[in-house]
Amino acid sequence: MKYSVVRGTKDILPDEVELWQYIEETARKIFAYYNYQEIRTPIFEVTELFQKSLGDTSDVVAKEMYTFLDKGGRSISLRPESTASVVRSYIQHSMYKTQKVSKLYYCGPMFRYDRPQAGRYRQFHQIGVENLGSAEPFADAEIISLGVHIFDELGLSDLSVALNSSGCSVCRPVIEERIKQFLGNSLPHLCKDCQRRFETKPLRILDCKNKKCNNYFSALPDIRKSLCQECKDHFNSVQEYLDSLGIEFKINPRLVRGLDYYNRTVFEIVSDQLGAQNAICGGGRYDTLVEKFGGPKVPAVGFAFGMERTALVLQSLHDKKEFKKENLKLFIVALGEMQRTKGFYILDEMRRAGIKSEMSYSDSNLKTQLKLANKLEANYCLIIGEDEVEKGIAVLKNMGTGDQEELSLDDVVTQVQERI
Ligand code: AMP
Repeated sequence: MKYSVVRGTKDILPDEVELWQYIEETARKIFAYYNYQEIRTPIFEVTELFQKSLGDTSDVVAKEMYTFLDKGGRSISLRPESTASVVRSYIQHSMYKTQKVSKLYYCGPMFRYDRPQAGRYRQFHQIGVENLGSAEPFADAEIISLGVHIFDELGLSDLSVALNSSGCSVCRPVIEERIKQFLGNSLPHLCKDCQRRFETKPLRILDCKNKKCNNYFSALPDIRKSLCQECKDHFNSVQEYLDSLGIEFKINPRLVRGLDYYNRTVFEIVSDQLGAQNAICGGGRYDTLVEKFGGPKVPAVGFAFGMERTALVLQSLHDKKEFKKENLKLFIVALGEMQRTKGFYILDEMRRAGIKSEMSYSDSNLKTQLKLANKLEANYCLIIGEDEVEKGIAVLKNMGTGDQEELSLDDVVTQVQERI
């Protein structure tokens, strides 16, 4: 084989696509219940948009972006996530002028040049929501419950919600200072990433997955203790609302998110079945991003979940066939040239009547065609032979029971419709 997919990408073949469609349709259905509307933005934007939103020192921007100069010499990047694009669009189209709160969702491919491994791709797909316009903890709780609702509806119940508050511009510096004080002496023993983050983004140190570094974090002071009163109150309210909805969550004082724009609430929905890449969904509040992009002061909260990881967990629980949308209803077995022309016409009528039908492209005998119908898992076969056409009939065969019945060719579509 001369060509294959680029490393870190994958084909989603028809068998698997049915599962993907099931996930997408479920998410769309639930989004509608919560009054979210879809937004579609381009898959590439000017590079600066991501640099500004995610932060120059974030791993995504520093190491993982697909960036290139277009023929006009502009620096363009494939989107590594969608929040920046949605916020850009929100401001560009002045959505804040028409609605106090904009509730948007998206669905599509994202691109990050990370080391591929199970559940981690270079082109992956996310479904996400952005709620722009409310600073109320109610919005945070609604977003989390929306995520949980989607996974419940998908039948993924053994997931857990990890929750934390990452503070705001008032208390974040205090939190970061405490982390620095605590880890200062251990710095030479920490990994290169931690050492770099110590200077640039001390909070992100908590995100380090290196086991050796983790040993030094075990006695770290709980960052919740350093939150300002407003952040504490906000965080408490989020928890109260979640409790009132009966949503279980676990506070993880070390949960921080890799992107710069988050403040206050951060959360992840995690699956035990995913190994190292166990986060299936991640999100949080970002109250300053709209303003940072030149828009008005608009607080916001959102999340994104990964299609690949969701599909992986679902696949481990179910047989692929369970996601199959609709069986082939009818296979037309036409025998002989004239009958094939007639069969082709009836096939077209069946399809126009909304009946999922097939017919063999090549002329072959009854046995071969029935074998093909079986392979395609057709529920019924409509057999049209020379004798049948002479009598003005066709034979409808139930492939499950083997029962056969003669139908008049005059209103064959209606009769088939009544029986299948
Ligand atoms: P993030 O945008 O990093 O907060 O990720 C949100 C979700 O997207 C994660 O919980 C994953 O389900 C998914 N995700 C992120 N990066 C990747 C990747 N490289 N490959 C597959 N899924 C990913």
